[in-house]
Amino acid sequence: MADAPQNIRVLSGEGCLEVTWSPERVVKLPFHFLRCQCPCASCVDELTGVRTLQPETVPEDIKPTGVGFSGNYALKIGWSDGHHTGLFTWDYLDKLSQEQEDR
Ligand SMILES: [Zn+2]
Repeated sequence: MADAPQNIRVLSGEGCLEVTWSPERVVKLPFHFLRCQCPCASCVDELTGVRTLQPETVPEDIKPTGVGFSGNYALKIGWSDGHHTGLFTWDYLDKLSQEQEDR
């Protein structure tokens, strides 16, 4: 299990979510990338694990309208396209952070 990030900031001007895992590890996750990686049941087929969300249907200027914690294990993000069922667990955010870091 990944530990909870130390800090999370919405950087509207840069179009990304900044996740501070530790003072040495600060990762920026672009809104569009995050929205396209939404792990909820309406974006991913629960049985097959196949992503059903088409990235091209996500607006380029997508942004979070609300970011909050779900318990102490996940981040809940509401989006400007009206989608608000996505829960990003720390493990999942950690995985997405690694993908961004590998670029
Ligand atoms: Zn979703």
